[in-house]
Amino acid sequence: MQANASSTLTLAFAAFLLAGLAVKFWLATRQIRHVAGHRGSVPPMFQSTVSLPAHQKAADYTVAKTRFGLLELAFGAAVLLGWTLLGGLDALNRWLLAWLGPGMTQQLALMGAFAVIGGLLELPFALYQTFVIEERFGFNKMSLKLWLADLAKSTVIGAVIGLPIAALILWLMGATGRYWWLWAWGAWMAFNLLLLVIYPTFIAPLFNKFRPLEDESLKARVTALMQRCGFAAKGLFVMDGSKRSAHANAYFTGFGAAKRVVFYDTLLAKLSPGEVDAVLAHELGHYKHKHILKRIAALFALSLAGFALLGWLSTQVWFYTGLGVRPNLDGGNDALALLLFLMAVPVFTFFLSPLMALVSRRHEFQADAYAVQQTSGQDLSSALLKLYEDNASTLTPDPVFVKFYYSHPPASERLARMAPA
Ligand SMILES: [Zn+2]
Repeated sequence: MQANASSTLTLAFAAFLLAGLAVKFWLATRQIRHVAGHRGSVPPMFQSTVSLPAHQKAADYTVAKTRFGLLELAFGAAVLLGWTLLGGLDALNRWLLAWLGPGMTQQLALMGAFAVIGGLLELPFALYQTFVIEERFGFNKMSLKLWLADLAKSTVIGAVIGLPIAALILWLMGATGRYWWLWAWGAWMAFNLLLLVIYPTFIAPLFNKFRPLEDESLKARVTALMQRCGFAAKGLFVMDGSKRSAHANAYFTGFGAAKRVVFYDTLLAKLSPGEVDAVLAHELGHYKHKHILKRIAALFALSLAGFALLGWLSTQVWFYTGLGVRPNLDGGNDALALLLFLMAVPVFTFFLSPLMALVSRRHEFQADAYAVQQTSGQDLSSALLKLYEDNASTLTPDPVFVKFYYSHPPASERLARMAPA
């Protein structure tokens, strides 16, 4: 029975991994072909607003990123196989057991070593992405020194935040009996909420400078918009996004009275006041439609299901052996179970991504509609076009690729809905 279940899991895992890989390759090549095929001319609806060089830059940037994504994809799949069926995690576990003996220290060391090795393997890709691709298209503003400083900072923050929560969950798994997964779920959710609260005030300022918005007329305008929409925010801030990248953005963070609006300096430099208003109104639309709350509620529900499943799987020997790991006979398999679960779940859930993307795109349309109602459709259209052009987002993505991956609808669909009927 165990041996059977174990080989069934191995087969299912390998089949899903291969099928996912095949679909992802197929999607990426479709996208590359479609974008390259439409590179020659600006689509009719954008001919008066987008120049041919801008359109071609977007096409080249999209193709370069998608091509590079193919390489990452193949590498990621090889690493995943290496950890699981080829015995990498098992070897690391045995080695740490021989060195540290069983117990909490060994389990934490296993999770830490897994994270460090995974991070090191991804490093060359991150470097290439920033210093070759982003650089070639004029987006990168980072020096290698700043990049390394960022890396050092995020590693320290990851350790300071990650190790205690990992220790807490491992402890709960061992100490709270059969229903440990309910406790672990509670701790994980509390941790996520805590992160939402401390991120804007404690973590983000470690990487960027935030200064209050000083432009008085823009401030008056934005404040009036927020009042009109019934929002109170703790402050309006400008972030020095230009320190790292030329990409522009704006966002809304925090909870309750601690909400703050953050504009990238790159956004304010490029948009007119009316356009800034329209972009902010779009963000407010997400709040008005409770998209953030819905997302958090979905996270709560999915995590509960995930922890319940893990609660059961972690007691099944075939769950370990089927994924290439020999469980420890003297107990203490919690870190192994967590890591295997985190690696295996995305392999099986990839095929749900069109569903997630669909919900997200629907939310974007709703937020756009809200912004059009509160400000002006014309301002929102021109702001979006500037942002698409500025981020070199292609105007001609492959429709099937969009269905799988796009969290935001393509420009043509968004503008078509905004146009006065
Ligand atoms: Zn949005």
